[in-house]
Amino acid sequence: MERVTRLADGLYQIDALMFDDTERLACYLFDGPERVLIEVGPSVTLHHLTDTLDSLGIDDLSTIAVTHIHLDHAGGAGHLAARYPNARIGVHAAGARHLANPQRLWDSATRIYGEEGMATMWGPMEPIADDRMLILEEGTRIPLGAGRFLDVMDTPGHAKHHVVFLDPESGGMFIGDSVGIAFPHGHFVQPVTPPPDLDPPLLVSQLRRMADRDPAFLGFAHFGRHDDPQAALAEAEARVEAWVDFVRDLGDDTEAAAVRLREWVLEGYRAQGVSEDVIATYDKNTFWPMMPAGIVRWLGLQS
Ligand SMILES: [Zn+2]
Repeated sequence: MERVTRLADGLYQIDALMFDDTERLACYLFDGPERVLIEVGPSVTLHHLTDTLDSLGIDDLSTIAVTHIHLDHAGGAGHLAARYPNARIGVHAAGARHLANPQRLWDSATRIYGEEGMATMWGPMEPIADDRMLILEEGTRIPLGAGRFLDVMDTPGHAKHHVVFLDPESGGMFIGDSVGIAFPHGHFVQPVTPPPDLDPPLLVSQLRRMADRDPAFLGFAHFGRHDDPQAALAEAEARVEAWVDFVRDLGDDTEAAAVRLREWVLEGYRAQGVSEDVIATYDKNTFWPMMPAGIVRWLGLQS
């Protein structure tokens, strides 16, 4: 698998080699007069991304944009901001304060992953000065130069600090975790439903808004280009609703629910004839304990 895939004129998909592994996190680079990078990844493997940017001759970035501030997307944003001192950091207002002062984000992630997990999976976070932030809202246009721009959509549901980016020129929509995960060779969509912000109806309403924009292709963070957006968005909606229904019947023991959900999901793939290696890819890219935890938390807020 190539580290860099050209998607369109001046648009590249970069394998960030997160977890020192291939096809775990895709970043997207607009290499025009004003260079924009979408997604960063954690600091502990950031050297892979910066090596690739160096190999492409990228010595400056105008904007480093993150779809949301979960550590697998934005953990290394402070380090990358220091490396490219002219870059603005594009982030939702609800995420900006956490990038400016990462301690709270760090502490809550440490409760999930433990100290050792934080060090080995993610690495430290560096704060970003407030005056470096480009606050992203619905309709924000991130300039790419030569009259081109990225159009921002405010898309809460997976996280309240989630945005997606639409490139009117290529028709690409860069969707972070909002639609779910979809891996090359499998290409079906699996929801990502972590606490604390997951809101399935809100998420579904955003999936429909994304479909209304009629993108030509989707750029998944996990992982890569998908050329049938309408099918992927419809599948995402159906699956997240099926997951909520399944988890609703399992009770509040999220550990037991994680085991049951995993068995049910993977058995469903087998029943559809999905190959074992593709199933293994989806499995290793899913932190199962988080998935029912997000749904159970949301269900609790409804009662
Ligand atoms: Zn996420």
